[in-house]
Amino acid sequence: MNRRQTIPKELRYTIDQFKRDFPDDDACLEQIKEQRFPGGVAVCMKCEGPRKHYRVKGRTAYACATCGTHIYPLAGTIFEKSTTPLHLWFHAMYLMGSTRCGISAKQVQRETGVTYKTAWRMFKQIRSLLSEPDMQLEGSTIEIDETYVGGVRKFNSGRKLRADAKKLMPVLGMAERGGRVRAFATPDVKITTVMPLVREFVLPKSTLYTDERNIYDGVQQVPGMGYVHKRIQHNAKVYVAGDIHTNTIEGFWSLVKRGLGGVYHSVSQKYLQSYLDEYSFRYNRRASGNLIFPAMLARVSEKVSLKPSSPAEKSHSV
Ligand SMILES: [Zn+2]
Repeated sequence: MNRRQTIPKELRYTIDQFKRDFPDDDACLEQIKEQRFPGGVAVCMKCEGPRKHYRVKGRTAYACATCGTHIYPLAGTIFEKSTTPLHLWFHAMYLMGSTRCGISAKQVQRETGVTYKTAWRMFKQIRSLLSEPDMQLEGSTIEIDETYVGGVRKFNSGRKLRADAKKLMPVLGMAERGGRVRAFATPDVKITTVMPLVREFVLPKSTLYTDERNIYDGVQQVPGMGYVHKRIQHNAKVYVAGDIHTNTIEGFWSLVKRGLGGVYHSVSQKYLQSYLDEYSFRYNRRASGNLIFPAMLARVSEKVSLKPSSPAEKSHSV
């Protein structure tokens, strides 16, 4: 599919524009500096007040115009400890944000020339920016559904896992109709796991659409929430009855499965949540064309961590 034709002009951010905006490491550093310290103005520790800072040539530092003390815009970001050039990080983020189904580390390796291992580690870091743990659903019409996604092959035989293989992992999803999704890698899909998530992320008095599985029994009785519950009888091969269906969340599942199947081939429990976060991040911004890259970039400075990283983490830096 040629997505270019489907994205309105104002929502397009082409690879040419990207390369013009970020031709080299300096341009990327400047971007991060502007996000964190607009106009180069930051509080200088020595002057004890806001001061303008200027780039120090050949370093990732900016110096206070008054006293010369350095600030480091990359400190606390995912780029801080990296030996991979900044423009390659940006390129990987651009690629990651520009397809609905995601992109593989292999593709990034091919397009940027980094090693597979580096591409994979960059992905891991970038994905860590995309989780939105506190995001509550705001729509009053919510579909809830569970699914299973494939795990790591037990033996490296190249054979496909059977559906009943033990490595399938449960995922619970909630989708606002016409809006956003949240997806959770859960240890199981029991009532005791599902209900607290529903209560935490779905507003009171919402109408919930689910299938007939008994894990959704009793949502109408959740104290103080006043949920209305409508169910579709999938067992009876009914998929839509008036406004009763779970097509929205199922559409998201097919995106996730197509992506995981085509891009990652296998996913372990350890990383499943971060993949779900990546897919949700893109899905929740699907109306922004491929302006997803700028949204990802914004996360770099929103998620600055000023905790010193452990030596173990350091040795895994990319
Ligand atoms: Zn100063």
